[in-house]
Amino acid sequence: MSIHRIYRPGLTAGAGRTELEDEDFHYVKNVLRLKPGSLLMLFDGVGNEYTAVIEGFESSKAILSIKHSKRILYDSPSLTLAQALPKESKMDFIVQKATELGVRYIIPFTSSRTVPKLTADKAAARVTRWRKIASEAAKQCGGAIVPKVSEIVNFEAMLEEAARSPLALFFWEEEKSRGIRDIFSNPSGPEISGVSVVVGPEGGFSRSETAAARDRDFTTVHLGRRILRVETAALVILSIIQYEIGSIGLPLERKATQ
Ligand code: SAM
Repeated sequence: MSIHRIYRPGLTAGAGRTELEDEDFHYVKNVLRLKPGSLLMLFDGVGNEYTAVIEGFESSKAILSIKHSKRILYDSPSLTLAQALPKESKMDFIVQKATELGVRYIIPFTSSRTVPKLTADKAAARVTRWRKIASEAAKQCGGAIVPKVSEIVNFEAMLEEAARSPLALFFWEEEKSRGIRDIFSNPSGPEISGVSVVVGPEGGFSRSETAAARDRDFTTVHLGRRILRVETAALVILSIIQYEIGSIGLPLERKATQ
């Protein structure tokens, strides 16, 4: 039987004991109905996992002792997804799937054609929800990393942040010469330690936005003739990258990665 995973940010390897309160306490005691002696896998979201045993329960908390910790190494590139705000709740779906696909950093941004116009409060509430979706998706898929979800930034700030990756890809359906296969077609090429992927909104990017990205050394890339929906594009791109140079399809013994 698989061990239940609990997201515990900030846990340190030296902590011999820890406690679960609030939602986690309710989940373990009343939903899972676990008893003293049961094992739990705690993960801190930045690559460490801790095997813990339930010592006992008090009125509103579970007392755990940490038996041992493991550092999850990654051999996949550090993936950053910069996603222009889509309409409705598509971003919830994109955050969940990007987390399952091992993304480490998600940058929601506005651009000239993004439709949602959010007040500061609404924007903050969306980001809080996406961060919860990311931690739940990491827990569900057994990922050791909970992706960092940044505040919603504008196009220029996004370029600044996403340009930090060694390989910065800007997905533009009007790109005619360079497809995603061209990017990864050189298996003996230098190891790529980090990739940023920029995906536009339903209306795509303007020519001036594309020019600004190129000026920042982003590589414009197409995904073939078919125009993918916003929520499809991020998934396809991340899946291809994880298959070509990441962890999808690697032998499981090297699985200790995203
Ligand atoms: N502007 C397009 C239109 O109006 O038909 C649609 C944009 S598409 C729905 C949203 C985003 O997905 C694009 O900005 C791009 O980043 C990415 N995308 C979708 N299909 C693509 C393709 N074939 N090549 C490159 N990027 C694509």
